[in-house]
Amino acid sequence: AARWAKAMEIVRELEEKCATPTAKLRQVADAMTVEMHAGLASEEGSMLKMLISYVDNLPTGDEHGLFYALDLGGTNFRVLRVQLGRKEGRVVKQEFTEVSIPPKLMVATSEELFDFIAAELAKFVATEENDFQLTPGRQRELGFTFSFPVMQTSISSGTLIRWTKGFSIDDAVGQDVVAELTKAMEKNGLDMRVAALVFLIIVTAMWTEITMSMQVNDTIGTLAGGRYFNNDVSAAVILGTGTNAAYVERAHAIPKWQGLLPSSGEMVINMEWGNFRSSHLPVTEYDQALDVESLNVGEQIFEKIISGMYLGDIVRRVLCKMAVEATFFGDNVPPKLQVPFILRTPEMSAMHHDTSPDLKVVGDKLKGILGIHYTSLKTRKVVVELCDIVATRGARLAAAGIFGILKKIGKDSVKEGEKKKTVISMDGGLFEHYTAFSQCLESTLKELVGEEVAETIIVEHANDGSGIGAALLAASHSQHL
Ligand code: ADP
Ligand code: MG
Repeated sequence: AARWAKAMEIVRELEEKCATPTAKLRQVADAMTVEMHAGLASEEGSMLKMLISYVDNLPTGDEHGLFYALDLGGTNFRVLRVQLGRKEGRVVKQEFTEVSIPPKLMVATSEELFDFIAAELAKFVATEENDFQLTPGRQRELGFTFSFPVMQTSISSGTLIRWTKGFSIDDAVGQDVVAELTKAMEKNGLDMRVAALVFLIIVTAMWTEITMSMQVNDTIGTLAGGRYFNNDVSAAVILGTGTNAAYVERAHAIPKWQGLLPSSGEMVINMEWGNFRSSHLPVTEYDQALDVESLNVGEQIFEKIISGMYLGDIVRRVLCKMAVEATFFGDNVPPKLQVPFILRTPEMSAMHHDTSPDLKVVGDKLKGILGIHYTSLKTRKVVVELCDIVATRGARLAAAGIFGILKKIGKDSVKEGEKKKTVISMDGGLFEHYTAFSQCLESTLKELVGEEVAETIIVEHANDGSGIGAALLAASHSQHL
């Protein structure tokens, strides 16, 4: 009984430390808005990078013609083509191919790498059949997603800062990657213009680069894909392994922007919001320990509280403390409970959603993953409660972040007589599959904006798994439109 009391004390303390009352969420949202302003005012002005994406024309749905996209991410690259048919036809047809990069090319010269990519691209273009139609007199246009740290200088140029993910091609560093690709395409007789280089990130830790570089593509691609199908999309949020957000900002509200104002008057900002932190965030001893043991200590604090990579491990850490200090799983601490990241968020989600009367799923997971053989129903209920506490905190904080964006763009109130909708495009495995999480996020957002505004805000799942975002951006930045 004393042990149980001790275990309950740990749970209650966690609950207290993870509490996110509305007033606290409002403080978090306000802090997010303040940091957004600071990040837009100057480089290094905030922990939010608020990166200028150079995407100043999101797709409208009116695009038409044939567009290509090339996504060079890691060991594979993906090429796809889409036939766009204006608002009536939308995506008339799409095809893609995935090619793995021979390891020796990852450490060769940039010329060899880009020659290989251009040759594969040429092969793919050669398979273009009659149902794909290039408008006569037009060049093929390609959106290029390059998931490496690039210092972007315009929508269609950027200098490679350094390779990651096993690539090491010294002569490419400092070169314009689009110029390199264009040169290789010319050699291969490919008549194509690179319309959109969708990428930018400069970070110090290599590990962060890898996770964040996936997010950048996702986030801007999700925004582009969302806007293509729905003109009211103003922001995109990814909740997957990591988390990030991008939104459409008024160009004149970006003091650090030095160039000419785009004619659309708008600019997509990649917030890199995973790096947000604030004294208002409810942080526990478990979060602190997770951060200290991570590869990017002190960075991505918001991400470490809300994203799929971490939620399961936070629960594991609490269970571990309960096992050690309250012998929650018997006299011995289950050894597997001490293995970092052994409890993954999809498993946590499965336990959280367990509706069987004896919580069979919870019992099976505890046994299968953590090697804990016998658990009572009472114990299983506590495990579900832990999942709920940790997921609820994450979801409510994500909602607060979105509320911060709505405040920044003035969509947190309805103007007299205005009924215009604001749509947030959401994507990522956490949002898609962790129902308790996404439902909590949506209801919290309603709670924050209030009843009247809630009618104008729509949270929409936009699946850009096919990666047509870059092709759509090539289309909206086409020289022919
Ligand atoms: P990424 O963010 O790596 O591009 P995804 O958007 O596909 O990839 O998200 C994958 C992440 O989503 C996983 O790492 C996991 O954290 C989370 N996830 C996937 N399936 C589930 C699930 N059933 N329940 C909860 N989280 C899930
Ligand atoms: Mg993804």
